[in-house]
Amino acid sequence: MTVDPRVIQLVMELRRQGIADTRVLSAVERVPRDRFVADQFLKHAYDNIALPITQGQTISQPYVVAYMTEALQLGDRMKVLEIGTGSGYQTAVLSRLGRRVYTIERYRSLLVSAEKRLHDLQITNVVTKLGDGNKGWPEQAPFDRILVTAAADRRPEGLVAQLSPEGGIMVAPVAVTTTEQDVIRYTRQGDEVREERLMAVRFVPLLPGIAREASPANP
Ligand code: SAH
Repeated sequence: MTVDPRVIQLVMELRRQGIADTRVLSAVERVPRDRFVADQFLKHAYDNIALPITQGQTISQPYVVAYMTEALQLGDRMKVLEIGTGSGYQTAVLSRLGRRVYTIERYRSLLVSAEKRLHDLQITNVVTKLGDGNKGWPEQAPFDRILVTAAADRRPEGLVAQLSPEGGIMVAPVAVTTTEQDVIRYTRQGDEVREERLMAVRFVPLLPGIAREASPANP
């Protein structure tokens, strides 16, 4: 696969912005972001900005994807749960680093498009599910790592409970006010959970339940 020169520029910019983990930078380099954006945004696929996807959702800004992935300290033997598949871009980055990625999305249409993109990129270590991410994936728990890509109102306790008690790490945007959120890193040791506030961000909200969508045949 030939690498788009714009991805090299992007990776250099992420470096300048302080992303130092070379494994993360190389994972970003190995995911063609243009495959995850709508045609009308192709020109901006490698700009360091969030872009709209369907259903009023967004593909996260590359810097935020890289930052949260770095904060996750993901090792190559690890099992990771992602909440909020969206376009599948962050999923693809995680798939380059971890052993297996379990990802949950509440919009079927988004999930179906993301699955197709991951399949086209021959990414085979991702398992997807339509569901309410607040509930996690009990059958597959515990997870070494959990990444939440939609903003929770408060600490997502249901997900903390599915973190490995042996140093499991979850990174999630959590509301500070109605419009502001901080990325929080939770590290679990037994029943103790340490919290670190990492940086201010803006994500779409983590919503309850599976989304209702008009079916294409029956709009
Ligand atoms: N990681 C994505 C970002 C998508 S935005 C990407 O790189 O493109 C956040 C996503 O979280 C949206 O697709 C939204 O539908 C989804 N979401 C919100 N609440 C959810 C929930 N309770 N369970 C699963 N997905 C949820």
